[in-house]
Amino acid sequence: MCVLQFQKGVSLSEFIKDYGSEEQCFESLVEWRWPDGFRCALCDHDKYCQLKNRKLYQCNRCHHQTSITSGTIFSSTKLSLATWFMGIYFITQDKKGISALSLHRHLGISYNAAWRMKQKLMQVMMERDQKKLLSGFIELDDAYLGGERTGCKRGRGAEGKTPFIAAVETTNERQPVRIKLNVVKGFRRAEITSWSQQHLAVGSTVISDGLACFNAVTEAGCQHDKIVCGGGRASVEESAFYWGNTVLGNLKSALRSTYHSLKPKYAQRYLAEFQYRFNRRFDLRELIPRLAFVCLRTPPMPEKLLKLGLA
Ligand SMILES: [Zn+2]
Repeated sequence: MCVLQFQKGVSLSEFIKDYGSEEQCFESLVEWRWPDGFRCALCDHDKYCQLKNRKLYQCNRCHHQTSITSGTIFSSTKLSLATWFMGIYFITQDKKGISALSLHRHLGISYNAAWRMKQKLMQVMMERDQKKLLSGFIELDDAYLGGERTGCKRGRGAEGKTPFIAAVETTNERQPVRIKLNVVKGFRRAEITSWSQQHLAVGSTVISDGLACFNAVTEAGCQHDKIVCGGGRASVEESAFYWGNTVLGNLKSALRSTYHSLKPKYAQRYLAEFQYRFNRRFDLRELIPRLAFVCLRTPPMPEKLLKLGLA
C-alpha cells in the first residue's frame, strides 16, 4: 500500500527557538488574535490599556477586561501558554497524532488535563474543516471504526461499530487533494442525502461502489458513477478506489499505533484530527500558527460539553 506523502515538519529545536518561552507564546497569540490591533470584544473599540502584571487588556471606552485566552478554546485553562503550544506542536507535527496518555507524559501534566487539551484541539480541527466542500472528482466509500475492512463485503451494519463516510477529492490526474471523514448514523439514503448537501459542491462527480444509498449524491446535484466490485480482496486493488483504500489504510494504522481504544461518542473528533492533518500535509510547518489562530476563534468548550461527545 502506498505511503502518503507528508512534508517534513518542524524540529523540536526549531519549535523551542520560536515558542519555547511563555512570553514568546503570549506575543504570538496577541499577534494572531488581533492582527490589525486590539479590538474590544464587547464594543469594538480599539483603544485599551494593558494591566501589565495580570496581562489583561482593558477597553478604554467600556472598561471590559479581556485576557488573551478569554472567549477562546483556551478559556479558563490552568495550563501555561507554553504547555498549550507544546501540545499543538505534538498534535500537528506527528502524522499519526498523539494520544492523551503521551501528552500527559511529554508535557508533565495530569492525564485529565492532557485529555481535555487533546479533545479541545481535536474539536478545533473538526470545526475548522466543517464548512469546506469537496468538489471535482470524489471517491466515496463506506467504512467502520472498530471493525475489519476486507473489501466490498465488510460487515455492513455490524453491531458495535461506528459507521463513517470516507470521501477523497482527487485531481483529474487522480492525485488526492482533500478528504472528509464523517460519522453517520448508518448507510441510508436520507443520511447520504443530507451529508452530500452539506459536504459536496454541486456539479461534482462521485465514484462509489454499488451501495444503493450512495445514489443519493444526485440529490446534491452531483453525478454518480457506480463501479460494482466483485467483492473480497480483489476489490481493494480496484483503481477507482485507490486513494480511498490508501487513506483508510493509513487511518487504521495511525489509530492502531496511537490509541488503545476509541469511544464511539468521540469518534468524529479523532476522524477530524486525521482529516485536518491529511488536508494540510504539504503545510506541516505552518500548522502551529494556523491551528493556534483557529483556537483563538473557537468558542470555549467546558468539560461538560466536551464529554457529551457527538454521538
Ligand atoms: Zn469596550
